[in-house]
Amino acid sequence: MIVRTRFAPSPTGYLHVGGARTALYCWAYARRHGGQFILRIEDTDLERSTPEAVQAILDGMAWLGLYPDEGPFYQMQHMPRYRQVITQMLESGQAYYCYSSKEELDAMREEQRARGAKPRYDGRWRPELAQRRGLVVPPDRAPVVRFRNPDEGTVSWQDGVKGQISISNSELDDLIIARADGTPTYNFCVVVDDMDMRISHVIRGDDHINNTPRQINILKALGASVPSYAHLPMIHGPDGEKLSKRHGAVSVMQYDEDGYLPEALCNYLARLGWSHGDDEVFSMDEFVSWFALESCSKSAAQFDFEKLQWLNNHYLRQMTGAVLAQKTAPRLAAELGVLPGLPRLDAVCDLLKERANTLVALAEASAMFYSPVQPDPVMLTERLQGAVPKALRDFASRLPEPFAAAAISQAMKTVLADHGLKMPQLAMALRVILLGKTETPSIDKVMEVLGPQLVQQRLSAVLDAWPQ
Ligand code: GLU
Repeated sequence: MIVRTRFAPSPTGYLHVGGARTALYCWAYARRHGGQFILRIEDTDLERSTPEAVQAILDGMAWLGLYPDEGPFYQMQHMPRYRQVITQMLESGQAYYCYSSKEELDAMREEQRARGAKPRYDGRWRPELAQRRGLVVPPDRAPVVRFRNPDEGTVSWQDGVKGQISISNSELDDLIIARADGTPTYNFCVVVDDMDMRISHVIRGDDHINNTPRQINILKALGASVPSYAHLPMIHGPDGEKLSKRHGAVSVMQYDEDGYLPEALCNYLARLGWSHGDDEVFSMDEFVSWFALESCSKSAAQFDFEKLQWLNNHYLRQMTGAVLAQKTAPRLAAELGVLPGLPRLDAVCDLLKERANTLVALAEASAMFYSPVQPDPVMLTERLQGAVPKALRDFASRLPEPFAAAAISQAMKTVLADHGLKMPQLAMALRVILLGKTETPSIDKVMEVLGPQLVQQRLSAVLDAWPQ
């Protein structure tokens, strides 16, 4: 069997992280089994679908590196095919016209409720029933088309994630497959496309479980082979409610904007609702080679923003300063108005990446190396007490060469001993003068990155004006 999976988003907003996880699993499953991954845009809801939302899906998937082997296909371009299948089903008796008005349907449901039955369409326009009841086709009413659902038996499938699921046909009524204006309905389009695209595995959110028995019945009526289904549990926020904007970013591209790496988000989403032993950090190649539907969790996953940050930090640390500089420079320029010259941004990024959870944080931290340093006078007065100014002048006159962290640290120790000071006294003063902050990475490394000229310049700017 050739494995063919599809991701079938409706373009009504952004690419949600839940959708992205579905896409990731569909992609990985196809890769794992040497099959194809197909992208199908379900854009038949004209009121809610927008070109911007289509673009957001394409952008989000490209950013994550989830390229389809086939597609994107657009359901709106399949309209003639849907009509063809509807006509065929009407001709074969698998579907029929239903002329019930909204008022009649309401009355039907009301009556069913009143006698304690489940409200459902009673099949009254099935040709033989309509004839028996003597129903007359109303002259001015455009009919809908309904699928003739089997009356007997059950629909069962072995769900790849949830296990065996069975629904009695008595629970299902005759589904509308074409509206009065002739447009096909959602479940019907999905079925025709899954059939025509020879989809072998439907992997999707478990909010679609209720659609599955109906879709299986239509597929069977069409003589199509029924794909395997796997329904993934929802993603919840930390409070156990369905993940929403209230909890944090839900749009994939928002994560890009917030400074997350696609590697980190993919790794995070892969692990969210699926596991391979205790493995938390893995490459996409590893994920593909390990991915199995049986290892997906049956219950909802909880989105953990801190864990995502931890993973993002992991991937940031793996990157070279040069790569990080490339990613950080535009953010520095756009968001902070900083155009990095000296010190070199790659060295700055290398120094700061340990502590940065996102590219945004990295850009913000890098900015302190570039913005004109105007140390706060209060902080300066606080730090330049007693022998400190003298020790600083001494240090400035003896900057080591080559100007490397170990030699700088040694020079600082010598100055400390000569002036009877403790390390924090000198180090804090240097931090405030060189970067305008008391919180910086290790000061010897900071100075190495700044280089002797900038260190000299920034020290002179303060010390030359400081009372002897
Ligand atoms: N278009 C549906 C959605 O965005 C998915 C349909 C499916 O996977 O069968 O929820």
